[in-house]
Amino acid sequence: MDSLEFSPSQRYSRQLRFAPFGAAGQEKLGQAHAAIVGCGALGSAQAELLVRAGIGRLTLIDRDVVELSNLQRQTLFTEADALAARPKALAAQAHLAAINSQVEVRALVADLTPENIAGHLAQAGLILDGCDNFETRYLLNDFALAQRRPWIYAAVEGAYGVCFTIRPGVSACLQCLLGSDPPQADGACDVAGVLAAAVRWVAAIQNMEALKLLSGHESALRATVWHADLWRNQSRELAAPARSPGCLACRGDHRWLRGESHSQTLTLCGRNAVQIRSPGRALDLPGLQLRLHACGRLQSSQYLLKFWPHPGTLPAGATPPEPGFELTIFPDGRAIVQGTSDPVLARRIYAQYLGG
Ligand SMILES: [Zn+2]
Repeated sequence: MDSLEFSPSQRYSRQLRFAPFGAAGQEKLGQAHAAIVGCGALGSAQAELLVRAGIGRLTLIDRDVVELSNLQRQTLFTEADALAARPKALAAQAHLAAINSQVEVRALVADLTPENIAGHLAQAGLILDGCDNFETRYLLNDFALAQRRPWIYAAVEGAYGVCFTIRPGVSACLQCLLGSDPPQADGACDVAGVLAAAVRWVAAIQNMEALKLLSGHESALRATVWHADLWRNQSRELAAPARSPGCLACRGDHRWLRGESHSQTLTLCGRNAVQIRSPGRALDLPGLQLRLHACGRLQSSQYLLKFWPHPGTLPAGATPPEPGFELTIFPDGRAIVQGTSDPVLARRIYAQYLGG
């Protein structure tokens, strides 16, 4: 369509007129590359805002597929994505291309691990937190400190949100802020739920920080830890802690990056599901489909295999929930076992059908 031919001065006119950002900021943003880890509610909001603003390149990393219960707050996705169980990174990439075809978006359907983080995030000058678990955040923190890259921590639960910009060597890091072990918050949103407006508010804070960093306006960055609870009508800025002299991560001891603290099973937030990793393993999905044919119902796509085992083929003592277990199996050996939050049971089910 000729009328939509790319004209940066038109497309970004309102940003260009915002004096502190201006043409120089737009130019820098257009050359920048950021990575978003996790394309759920926060991550997909982040991706849309940065692509609309005209970032040069964006890397999206997400391990999951779109589900119906995502649509309430994950605003890049549609019912068609949920029906097709499209991987979030790829669904986001397609929608983002329709929003701004000038931005180069790389989509990775992957779980971020100590083994692949350096490769996946190699090119990104800024990392944005869209994670749903602290294990990945602690890994990101180690990587960011080791590589001296800024990253922006953000999280939402219920109507509560938090955001903190982390600059290695300048600010406190995530471990300075939260301690050497991750808070035991995983799975909390099973109970708490989450409201979309809280996601939007946190995403706005996080995106504003990203724009300041990517356009070279470090002096405008927020030096505080921002918290808000929209339901209770509270928001406040807490003074950021000083870099802790005892912080192992700041002192260069990166145990999450070394993989010493990385678990192979992870209970997924709000999902009654467990992810099982199997590093170094590759699964031949067409072969697996033939083998599992007699054990349950299957549905395949080019990215994954869905499997609903017959109750009679389950490991001894495994009582299926209503409407049964569901396995989502990826070529990298990973599987999400839906229908339980018990890692031991999920591992047994994995072993029963996938071996290993
Ligand atoms: Zn630290």
